[in-house]
Amino acid sequence: MSWNFSQSSIYKFYKIHQRKIFGGAAFLLLALFFLVGYRVFDYVQKPDLEVSFFDVWQGDSIFVESKDGTQILIDGGPPNRILPNLGSRMSFFDRFIDVVVLTHPHADHVSGLIEVLGRYNIGMIIESGVDYHTAEAKIFESLVAEKKLKKVTVDHPINLNFANGAVLKFIYPEESFVGMTLKNVHDSALVGELDFEDKKILFMSDAEKNLEKRLVEEGRVGDVDVLKTGHHGSKTSSNDFFLRVTKPEYAIISSGARNRYGHPAQEVLSRLASAGAQIFRTDLDGTITLEIRNGSLIWK
Ligand SMILES: [Zn+2]
Repeated sequence: MSWNFSQSSIYKFYKIHQRKIFGGAAFLLLALFFLVGYRVFDYVQKPDLEVSFFDVWQGDSIFVESKDGTQILIDGGPPNRILPNLGSRMSFFDRFIDVVVLTHPHADHVSGLIEVLGRYNIGMIIESGVDYHTAEAKIFESLVAEKKLKKVTVDHPINLNFANGAVLKFIYPEESFVGMTLKNVHDSALVGELDFEDKKILFMSDAEKNLEKRLVEEGRVGDVDVLKTGHHGSKTSSNDFFLRVTKPEYAIISSGARNRYGHPAQEVLSRLASAGAQIFRTDLDGTITLEIRNGSLIWK
């Protein structure tokens, strides 16, 4: 009896609210259609690979995203600049970054990463493991330990393969700096080359003359399309012998307007111009975004 009673109640409810039920279902279907449509449109119009050299004032921060959504953040710049920059590239609901790279623990590279670790879930940390005495460096390391993040220390050249044949090659260090204290921490800086669709982008972090010399002598660098110049355009980096080998078509300088170090040095601008590189500067151009689509470089 109760079954019959219940069945007729449902039927009565259906008859009374028939129009509302159909209306609601149609609305849900339409919403689903637009949601799926938006996702498909978003995917189709996304470049194969996008690299953003964030304007973080005096510092370095580079964000790489491939079409399949793999995200890599190389350094976080100084305090208070990275989160708005990431917010401009990641959706509000995206709280996960696959890989965070700390090239070396100077404040203008690591400070922003402390904010990133506080806000985002991280798949993996890549660093040299060099010891550095500042509060920022210690806080970063204690956060990595506290959150039990997977950590890879680069002590020999390794490749990070991701979407559609893209590969981020760490070409330096080639020895372990874990727990070591260096006179010049730039000698432990992670140098990476991103290869995708026959294009090469070389990220030099703050590498200086010694390291440039070593990379050239050991044949670890060759002709590249884009050079993220070492050490914010400081005169200690982007030497003529290095530019003769790397032959960049484009050079990026990541530095802050009116910084107290005088970056970029006029002589570096001249060296890059003589080498035939078109120069982009975060202090003048703001965030610089490079897309790779079907083997072509598109600057924004
Ligand atoms: Zn540095």
